[in-house]
Amino acid sequence: MNTPSHSILNLAILGRAQQPMMTWPILMGSWLPDAALFGFYGWAKLANIPEATIWRETYYEPIWQDIFAVGNSIPLALIGLGVFAWQQRLRIAVMFASMLLHHLEDLPLHHDDAHRHFWPLSDYRFVSPISYWDSNHWAIYGAFAELVLTLLATAILLRRVQSSWGKGLLIIINVIYVFGYYSFYLRSNL
Ligand SMILES: [Zn+2]
Repeated sequence: MNTPSHSILNLAILGRAQQPMMTWPILMGSWLPDAALFGFYGWAKLANIPEATIWRETYYEPIWQDIFAVGNSIPLALIGLGVFAWQQRLRIAVMFASMLLHHLEDLPLHHDDAHRHFWPLSDYRFVSPISYWDSNHWAIYGAFAELVLTLLATAILLRRVQSSWGKGLLIIINVIYVFGYYSFYLRSNL
């Protein structure tokens, strides 16, 4: 899934109107699993690697795959959640819960780029038949599922969010998603 979708879904699922202090931990948890990816992309751009090579070759190099595995590990997120819930450090526990949710959201929607979600216990990758972006692997459905979930979660959040900045941002992200879906997946298939 795309990172903004994780943020919107996780806020809708884990957030509560009466607990605004959990908003940042939820957002952090929705970003952290993808943090290494942004670092990777920034590094690859600085190293002047061509765009196609970045995603077709460099991304799959073992060193980068190992770094991505850490951030996408379900066991590590579970340990973090357990340890910090036990210590009653609830904001950090919620951050780990949000990371866990991010992994579960990615699990059914990654094909070639499937993560090693069970690292370090296992290097198994669940290669889903449906991708959230790859048209060769049913992205027309995968991206649609992501779009619908994001729209539903946004409907929940719009009722909960007070600030007009927050509402505006939600609406902008969704408008970009709808146009993105139309231009990337729908138009080419119509
Ligand atoms: Zn992810």
